[in-house]
Amino acid sequence: MSSEPTATWSPVEHERVFRVPGRRDLAPQADIRSSADLITACPFCTGAGGALAGGGVRLVPSKHPMIALTEPGSLTQEQLHWVLVYGSSHSRRLGDLPATVTQEFLELVSHKTSRLFAHPSVKAVFAFESVGDHFGPTVAHPHGQVVGLPFVPRRLTLAQAAESCAVCDSVIRQDLTVMITSHALVQVPAWSRLPFEMIILPRVHRPDLASLSAEETTAMADCLHTGLRLCRLTHGGEMPPYLINVMQAPRGDTSHHLRIELVPLHKDERTLKRPGGMELGLGIYLNPLLPEVAAGILREVLPGARRCPP
Ligand SMILES: [Zn+2]
Ligand SMILES: [Zn+2]
Repeated sequence: MSSEPTATWSPVEHERVFRVPGRRDLAPQADIRSSADLITACPFCTGAGGALAGGGVRLVPSKHPMIALTEPGSLTQEQLHWVLVYGSSHSRRLGDLPATVTQEFLELVSHKTSRLFAHPSVKAVFAFESVGDHFGPTVAHPHGQVVGLPFVPRRLTLAQAAESCAVCDSVIRQDLTVMITSHALVQVPAWSRLPFEMIILPRVHRPDLASLSAEETTAMADCLHTGLRLCRLTHGGEMPPYLINVMQAPRGDTSHHLRIELVPLHKDERTLKRPGGMELGLGIYLNPLLPEVAAGILREVLPGARRCPP
């Protein structure tokens, strides 16, 4: 049986499902009992190139690509799926490292996005980071991922039919704004799905990272970095499990407003809100924290998040 990834279209759900049999034997880090195994098994601490001394971010092709080949002569699976490795410690994430590492992270995503879009078969590019045992990462070393897709996922098509940009229309809510600078802001979206969900936005309509000025890129990185620190401060000093979703425009869609979704799972200082039956069953989120209340809590701890170092 082939271990190649395939994409299956569901005529019922109108969504694709990726079949990735080549990833079947990968063990989530949360399920590996011995901490010695975690360290010796890390390809980025012990493998070629060694640790990333002093921080920094490095792009490497995925050894276990999730994406199927698109067409003959197109990019290989490895060339469509990239890993962004950063830091030299397994316990220090983007929010724990200097903001310049977060900026480098976004700059590399921007660069790789442009490179992927140079190939006509790539229709959308998604960058993300999933952190914490809840998400079952198979590599312990801090890393994000970038994947070029030969189709446009549904969540990246939602703005296309609108007459005006819903994001531009909605960002004036001061009660939902956590932090605002000359070029970017952090806001709890009025439609937040999880208690401390945040979005990081450029103040001017931009479809993707490549269309940002240098100042806007720095501001977006600063906002993301601060948002990550806010997660830790509102979860009793522990970093909660979180997702970073870099929502960039699909190919040619200037109606899309670039946003970085920061989606932590914590509900308060001690507990998590785990997506359950309604969320996974129907896609309907039950959020126990009103967004304006969440924004108020985040604003309260903002001065602490702005102090460096952590
Ligand atoms: Zn490592
Ligand atoms: Zn907009």
